[in-house]
Amino acid sequence: MPDYDVTVIGAGNAGLSAAAYLARKGIRTLLLEKHNIPGGCATSFCRGRFEFEVALHQLSGMGTTERPGPLRGILDGLGVLDQLEFVQMEDLYRVVLPGEIDVTLPADKNEMVKILQKQFPSEKEGIREYIDFVYKFFTEVIGAFYMNDPAISREKYPMYFKYALTNTQTVMDMFIKDPRLQMALSMYWTYMGLPPRLLSFSDMAALLFSYLEFKPFHIKGGSQALSSALLNQFQSHGGKSLFNTRVEKILMQKDAVAGVVTESGEEITSRYVISNASAISTYVNMLGKDNTPDVLKKQMKGSTIGPSFFTIYAGFDAEPEELGINSETSFLCASSDIERDFQQAKLRDVDNSSMIMSCYDVADPEFSPPGTSQAAIVTLKYAEPWLRVDPHRYAEEKYRCADILLKRAEKTYPGITSHIEEMEIATPVTHMRYLGHPGGGAYGFDQHVKDSNLFVSPKPPVKGLYCCGAWYDSGGFQPTLTSGASSARAILKEMRSGEVA
Ligand SMILES: Cc1cc2nc3c(=O)[nH]c(=O)nc-3n(C[C@H](O)[C@H](O)[C@H](O)COP(=O)(O)OP(=O)(O)OC[C@H]3O[C@@H](n4cnc5c(N)ncnc54)[C@H](O)[C@@H]3O)c2cc1C
Repeated sequence: MPDYDVTVIGAGNAGLSAAAYLARKGIRTLLLEKHNIPGGCATSFCRGRFEFEVALHQLSGMGTTERPGPLRGILDGLGVLDQLEFVQMEDLYRVVLPGEIDVTLPADKNEMVKILQKQFPSEKEGIREYIDFVYKFFTEVIGAFYMNDPAISREKYPMYFKYALTNTQTVMDMFIKDPRLQMALSMYWTYMGLPPRLLSFSDMAALLFSYLEFKPFHIKGGSQALSSALLNQFQSHGGKSLFNTRVEKILMQKDAVAGVVTESGEEITSRYVISNASAISTYVNMLGKDNTPDVLKKQMKGSTIGPSFFTIYAGFDAEPEELGINSETSFLCASSDIERDFQQAKLRDVDNSSMIMSCYDVADPEFSPPGTSQAAIVTLKYAEPWLRVDPHRYAEEKYRCADILLKRAEKTYPGITSHIEEMEIATPVTHMRYLGHPGGGAYGFDQHVKDSNLFVSPKPPVKGLYCCGAWYDSGGFQPTLTSGASSARAILKEMRSGEVA
């Protein structure tokens, strides 16, 4: 029977980063992935002459060589920093609500404040005060939470204690009145999947701080280049990987994990298992009800599955300038009512859905073949309404929805539809199929204030079982890559202390 020190289930960002980290430390590690390529969400696919980026719109936490962000250090530690080329984006995003607002926010704190003050002169002071508040608050979060201050106290971190679990809407209301301005400042709610009313201020502050301070980035060759580089690191340090291999069961011996069973029935033993699969498949399907601690069952009962996406991947026979696209990331809004926008995510219809349009070729003209460009047009959607579509009508329904979104995108970028050379459409059902996650949730569970990552326990739920990725921490590239490396570090620490023998 094959035996390893660690078995990693799933080759998403977190699984890959955990596996690469362990192999580089000489730990005998096996990586099992049900799909035929590494990456999970962090992948690409080809249609015609285009290689479409599946997920990565903006990479957070990178920073520059002169002012490195936390992710840069992690990628360096995983041995992939030098093997990849990162493309810095100049803007956070453009926000367009036809007839009401059209503003592009640069990825620079002071410049962003100036531009917003010009557009909203009556809110001049509130804009400056809100951004200063975000910075002051997040500086306390870094000290208290990320640096793990052992002498943490309310006196030392007053803002952290007061606002970490306050919702974003409450804090914005203290400074900003105009709903259009609130919308422009909080578009990143879509990167967490919950509107400001339900999103903790610490999550919103983390996004704004991270993208403003460490700039948004893209990767040459797309997120697949990162996934392949991590896999190469893993394999070149002796790691063994098996693709097209779904794990069916996590084996237990007494009260500790003992290995896994694959879908072909093969048993593999290992002292540790890291799962990058969803919490539901890890605990309910693989570990089983009887082995899952009651506290976890209770926690999952109180959680809801987060949103997935409806995405149009469009390859154009023209470069961005010909299409009038001059911002990498555009939020094309349907209204300034964010609450209404969020409710739209629960419907299949897209008539009133806001969307994010990312055109990677703006920052990286070599992203698509010469003379062409590509864009991902994405709107948040929960899976449930899509699961009710009659399978015979599924293809027709997704093209119908795509048509509506494209017509709306035409209002900001006239003529783009006539330049589409290739097009593919993904629904929540597509993400369910490829990732194996319930609801196709790329961010895991809904991140309500009570589910904030401030409460994530570093302790393994079962002896020897570590879980990493969007279902256990926060979604997004930076958090999941960090989460995988943290699981690997925790295992190394435990191995060194000889706790699990
Ligand atoms: C359209 C879209 C746009 C996005 N845009 C951004 C963005 O701009 N910026 C950002 O930071 N984030 C973005 N995200 C979110 C980000 O991509 C995800 O949160 C992150 O990649 C999830 O990583 P993960 O480690 O949790 O694993 P996942 O990517 O969820 O991968 C899990 C892996 O486990 C495998 N697996 C599952 N079950 C099993 C099993 N039983 N056996 C073996 N293998 C199994 C799956 O096949 C998969 O490969 C986006 C996501 C999508 C879909």
